[in-house]
Amino acid sequence: VDHLSAHDNPVPDVLDSANSNPKALQPRLHLIDEQQKFSETLSTYIARDWGLGDAGFNYNVAAVFGSQSTGKSTLLNRLFGTSFDVMSETARMQTTKGIWISKGRNMKVLIMDVEGTDGRERGEDQDFERKSALFSMATSEVLIVNLWEHQVGLYNGANMGLLKTVFEVNLQLFGGNRGKEKTLLLFVIRDHVGATPLANLSNTLRADLERIWHGLSKPEGLEDCKITDYFDFMFTTLPHKLLQPEKFETEVDNLRLRFSDPSDPNYVFQPQYSRRVPVDGLHIYAGGIWDKIMTNKDLDLPTQQELLAQYRCDEIANAAFATFQEKIKEFRQPIETGNIVENLGPKMNEIRGAAIKSFDKDASRYHAEVYKRKRADMLNKANHMLEAYFLGQLKNLHKKAVNMFSTNLQQALRADGAEFSVAVAAAKKEALDYFLQGAKAIKLGETEWSYDEEQYQLEQGLQEFATAQREKELNKMLTNLEKNLRNELDEPVGLALNNPGPGMWGRVITIYQRTVEEAEQLLQKKARTFDLNEKEQAELTVNLRRQAWVLLTKKVQEESVDGMMLLKLRNRFEEKFRYDDHGLPRVWKPDDDIDTPFRKARDETVELVPLFAKINTMDPVKGEKFELEPSDDFDFDQSLKVLSESRQQEITTKFKRESDAFYLEAKRSVVSTQAK
Ligand code: GDP
Ligand code: MG
Repeated sequence: VDHLSAHDNPVPDVLDSANSNPKALQPRLHLIDEQQKFSETLSTYIARDWGLGDAGFNYNVAAVFGSQSTGKSTLLNRLFGTSFDVMSETARMQTTKGIWISKGRNMKVLIMDVEGTDGRERGEDQDFERKSALFSMATSEVLIVNLWEHQVGLYNGANMGLLKTVFEVNLQLFGGNRGKEKTLLLFVIRDHVGATPLANLSNTLRADLERIWHGLSKPEGLEDCKITDYFDFMFTTLPHKLLQPEKFETEVDNLRLRFSDPSDPNYVFQPQYSRRVPVDGLHIYAGGIWDKIMTNKDLDLPTQQELLAQYRCDEIANAAFATFQEKIKEFRQPIETGNIVENLGPKMNEIRGAAIKSFDKDASRYHAEVYKRKRADMLNKANHMLEAYFLGQLKNLHKKAVNMFSTNLQQALRADGAEFSVAVAAAKKEALDYFLQGAKAIKLGETEWSYDEEQYQLEQGLQEFATAQREKELNKMLTNLEKNLRNELDEPVGLALNNPGPGMWGRVITIYQRTVEEAEQLLQKKARTFDLNEKEQAELTVNLRRQAWVLLTKKVQEESVDGMMLLKLRNRFEEKFRYDDHGLPRVWKPDDDIDTPFRKARDETVELVPLFAKINTMDPVKGEKFELEPSDDFDFDQSLKVLSESRQQEITTKFKRESDAFYLEAKRSVVSTQAK
């Protein structure tokens, strides 16, 4: 049952999915409607209804042309399993104007049924004929020209007018592109009775075509171009569908092979006819062409190809980029919170690679220059986004390297016998190595990223840190040295001063010189580990001497406060007055002269006081006066002064008063022994 011709059983626009049932009719789409509006659902039909979404270049486009009611739609439905409207034999309704599109069953062929192209037969304007011819030529590789056998040879027939239009339009589109993009015209001669062989019919048609071509007014520079520069021809016949139905079906089956079987000797879709439009961009390309046709602008196919490429490459890039952004999101939080993301380099590289690969997959089919440019744009954009993570991780590596340096240095310095400069060099190398290794691992190829600046900053930072640390350690060392100095000085100086006498200051100076000499040796040893230069070392030595001197004079001051002085004087006095020459305590007898020894002991003791007026800097070992250079806050001469004149007086008076008590005590002891 040829249900396709039953007008009262209209075929719905969308039937079962094209591929689920091999016998199902292919859904069709009113691509350009009677208002000459371009459908917005072409891409949906391509992907969803026809299952061609991923076909890329692996698909073909054909269109059919011919007078109305020459059985075009009937032929397409038989050939391709499509569901185009067929005019009912009884009702003879006017079919809608426009272009319908569908897909061949079990073949990747898009087929367009161009209706209402025979306006001239019905006396209508030929505007749509021209528009649809332009559109079909721009998009289709093969044009099927459908005509009755009895139309062959009618040079002025409707078909010939149509062909004239096709040729003109072709020159408009491909004129300058001779031999590059050809179109195949496949003539299908219907209701072939058989009396005239195909060869004769095709010769007649060829002659007519040449004549039409000859009569065309050609654009400048193309005056002598040949029809075969732009077209290839194929001719075939079909028997009468109603009179010889079985033979008709067999012939249609044979004809189908030319569209579906690349190994068929008459296979129509040869590479030279391809319009080079990837199927995922067909809706943009075809829509753009129709738009240009409708607005009567110059229809320049290379420009259309470029526009298409720009549009599609942007779309593809945006999709790839959206996935890319989603994937790199995971790095954000850890990096912003100061962490080091493990394997960040390889991860970024993989995500970027996946985005580029996904872009390449679809976009590489488009106009090469545009594709290359958009690819570079995308790579730039991706690199730009990733650079934020690169820099963030660098910052974190930097921070961690500084921490590492400080921890390691601190630890190394805690060890016995640690040498500062050695410890710094080792800690610095480890921190820098750590940073550089981490930085190298995240620098991606095809970028201008650099970590030189960060490295410089890090080295600078470590240097500053080391300098500050050196200062600290040096101060610690000097503090220790000072403590040592005090320990070394305090007791011997105290002893020397507690045994006052003319050699007292000589002993003090000797103690000072010995202590300072030892401290200087220690300092020199330390200086090596701190990498001190000569100037620094000289400065520290001067400071050390001064410091030791200040400590010494402090001790001298402590020893010469009133109480201490009186103690010293009293001790000396007691030694002389209360003990005899053998060191035994004296017991006074009534006849003893107390006054003379008392006066002698007292005078000798008082003589000690002027010794404390000033430190005598004569060095008994070197036999020369000892001296220190003064500085802003250090006055050597001033530091020598101990007891002023008035204090000497005061202390002497106080002492004399105290000694009086001893005198009375001695007297009383005699009285008390007499009384017994
Ligand atoms: P279209 O306008 O060119 O698409 O023609 P249709 O496919 O709508 O067919 C118009 C009429 O011609 C219909 O009544 C068909 O039944 C009839 N028809 C279809 N194929 C043939 C054929 O091979 N020979 C003849 N004589 N009639 C046909
Ligand atoms: Mg039709």
